[in-house]
Amino acid sequence: MIQATPLISTLKTESTLCIYDGKSKLDSKKDILSFLYLKPTRNSKLGSRFNYTVYAPSKYDTLHSIQSPAVCGDCTLAKPETGNCYVTFNHLNTISKWVDNHKETINYKPDLFSSDDFSYLKMYVNGSYLRLGSQGDPVSIPIDITLKLAELYDYKFTSYTHVHSLEKILGYEKLTLVSCETVEQAKYFQNYNFRTARIVPEGEKLLPSEIVCPEQEGKTLNCSMCMLCNPSNENIKKNIVFRPHGTKKNKLIKYLKSQEKI
Ligand code: SF4
Repeated sequence: MIQATPLISTLKTESTLCIYDGKSKLDSKKDILSFLYLKPTRNSKLGSRFNYTVYAPSKYDTLHSIQSPAVCGDCTLAKPETGNCYVTFNHLNTISKWVDNHKETINYKPDLFSSDDFSYLKMYVNGSYLRLGSQGDPVSIPIDITLKLAELYDYKFTSYTHVHSLEKILGYEKLTLVSCETVEQAKYFQNYNFRTARIVPEGEKLLPSEIVCPEQEGKTLNCSMCMLCNPSNENIKKNIVFRPHGTKKNKLIKYLKSQEKI
């Protein structure tokens, strides 16, 4: 018989749980928050079974400061010259509302390290997948929390980091793919046993180990059915390629050309 616990009461009214409230691992002077969003996503690319995490500054002045280095590191896609961050203004708006709604009222944070909370959450999320870092970088919070999240979802998750400091991401080899923009970056991180996710314009050559995201090629419906981007699955050796897409893709292609002289 399951006893009533603060977590169970919280889950009766909340679908967003704060899982971290502390210093950023990417900027030790900044406090950040991280949330676990438990409602299955309605995103057609991910599929219907994904929960996701969001990383956001605990204090911010404008919506766009949500992309601060404390949560996004030095992600290329957040730079004005690429302008290609897939987190749209609407999405940022939603995230900022979450932060506003939760930062003053976080009265119960699940303790992923307590067996009671962990077991209950595990039953609750049973059958779901996790997208680490729907906004922000998974490396921005302590690795032990990310390891518990991976365990919570039975290691069924997808994750990408844009942090290119090897020192900061060593230990994450089975917790995240590394997003890359150039062949050199991809080869460098593959050499350190990371799998990579590289943006490559249509028509450009791939490395022998790379495969274009099957969803972009119409070969699978969504990530739930594919899961090639699961970093913890040791049977998957392929590195992923994404084709630039969306309304700002030409700007991104121009940036990639300037980086690699493709
Ligand atoms: S490769 Fe598969 S898991 Fe990765 S983004 Fe594409 S569809 Fe999703």
